[in-house]
Amino acid sequence: MEEKKLIVCARCGEKISHNSDLVVVVNFIAPIPYHNDCYSKELKGLSGFGVSNQPINGSMGVVQTLVSALGALMFPLH
Ligand SMILES: [Zn+2]
Repeated sequence: MEEKKLIVCARCGEKISHNSDLVVVVNFIAPIPYHNDCYSKELKGLSGFGVSNQPINGSMGVVQTLVSALGALMFPLH
């Protein structure tokens, strides 16, 4: 049997054992794993995104798009 990689939530430090419970947020440096629950709590801590009442699966794409756009603004290499 293949051993699964140990993924630990960046917010609560607990192991994430189910794929359905895993949310990965990409910031400027590296992907950050969160529990679905922890991610929504973390999002509510970030003001100004305006995604508080959206489902996680929808808002994740929004945040990643925002982060990409910010990254492009901060590092205009092209
Ligand atoms: Zn967690």
